[in-house]
Amino acid sequence: MEKFANIFYVLASVLFILGIKKLSHPKTARNGNFLAAVGMFIAIVATLVSYGKIDFQLIATGMIIGAIIGATFAIKVEMTQMPQMVAIFNGFGGGASALVAAAEFLKTGEITTFTLGTIVLSVFVGTLTFTGSFIAFGKLQGFVSGQPVVFPGQQMINAIFAIGMLGIGYMVVQSPSEMYFFYAVVVISAMMGITLTIPIGGADMPVVISLLNSYSGIAAAATGFVLMNNGLIIAGALVGASGMILTNIMCKGMNRSLTNVIFGAVGLKKESTGEGTAKQITVKSYSTEEAAMIFDAAEKVIVVPGYGLAVAQAQHAVREVAEFLESKGKEVLYAIHPVAGRMPGHMNVLLAEANIPYEQLKDLDEINPEFEDCDVALVLGANDVVNPAARHDTSSPIYGMPILDVDKSRTVIINKRTMNTGFAGIQNELFGFDNSIMVFGDAKDMLQQLLKDLKEL
Ligand code: NDP
Repeated sequence: MEKFANIFYVLASVLFILGIKKLSHPKTARNGNFLAAVGMFIAIVATLVSYGKIDFQLIATGMIIGAIIGATFAIKVEMTQMPQMVAIFNGFGGGASALVAAAEFLKTGEITTFTLGTIVLSVFVGTLTFTGSFIAFGKLQGFVSGQPVVFPGQQMINAIFAIGMLGIGYMVVQSPSEMYFFYAVVVISAMMGITLTIPIGGADMPVVISLLNSYSGIAAAATGFVLMNNGLIIAGALVGASGMILTNIMCKGMNRSLTNVIFGAVGLKKESTGEGTAKQITVKSYSTEEAAMIFDAAEKVIVVPGYGLAVAQAQHAVREVAEFLESKGKEVLYAIHPVAGRMPGHMNVLLAEANIPYEQLKDLDEINPEFEDCDVALVLGANDVVNPAARHDTSSPIYGMPILDVDKSRTVIINKRTMNTGFAGIQNELFGFDNSIMVFGDAKDMLQQLLKDLKEL
């Protein structure tokens, strides 16, 4: 029976890998998602059949409850709340792995030293992912401060937790009958999830989200070793590895090392001068009618989408404006910053939803040289990713992060609703630059009005 299950696990794994490969392009992504889902279905059926003696009624009840919760979330959650949902799902993944490993520990009977070791690893990583993900959710949802929360002795506390964890984990393996060691592992892991995540904030959040995603995979793989289930080991390893690759991409996007992100909040006492200049920024505010005239004279336009575009759900409106400009012979490109929005790939997903041709979406490295030769950079609900302070203000929390060089365009038209800051909580000097023009309002309303004005010219 086990051999039979393994054949299906190999088939499922091939489908997972093909699915991940197809996810790398918007045109094939839907198909990729479907392939991976088929793979997961095969893996679940193979597991249920190979285990033989199981309570199908209990499993069906769990699946129905899970399916109802999952479907309700998927239907109800707004596109802008997707990042929070991803954070919660990472947490549930870690929590589930920890629970399965804990159940194996609490089962009566002899447990080998190897299995005890993997149980400790799974409970540790799974519980840490669970509490860490809920902190990340709270930060994205605004329940917890989005800024780094730093308290005295933080690093010392983390170091004590880490050393304590090693010692107590060893004790669990040595004396599995002493239950309090096991409970201590759960408590310390839960605390570590909080103390490791809470000091990370502001512009570093994308790294945390992708890292927690990776941890949920590592926890699943560890649980796979607990159960000696090849399907779970492979699926967990795939999530863990792809999460690590994504974390690396996000770190590159921020120009930060992983250790710097995780431990960088130490001594975060420096005040950003960006905050201080908030009151001194004098901006030029134009109507859409005036902005339309600038577009009319332009030949090359680069659209820079940010989180505000997702909030306004203005992806269709921006496509309509772009298509109109193209019909007038103008060139339109889209500049995609790796950490724009609130989740990795957020802008790609958003623009793909409006069927904006993928060929027009340009990565940071590709688009930055284009700004010098651009008539209008249209910044739509983006803030941190176009803040020039990242280039020169050493006291800025985003210093060193590569940004989209919109200020090098002849004119920068910035749309947002107010002078409020972005996620990193710092003011943006770009808004006061000589070549910058603000067009205030909700991105969707503004774009719809702009289209009307363009048509009337
Ligand atoms: P920002 O958060 O810097 O700025 C978004 C801007 O959109 C705000 O200034 C806001 O201004 C404006 N806005 C909000 N609603 C609307 C609306 N309806 N219409 C028009 N404008 C609107 O976004 P960016 O995309 O520039 O940067 C992303 C930030 O989020 C970075 O700091 C990044 O590190 C962080 N982050 C990214 C994650 C990821 O994985 N990509 C995950 C977590 C955090 P106003 O309120 O005045 O309208």
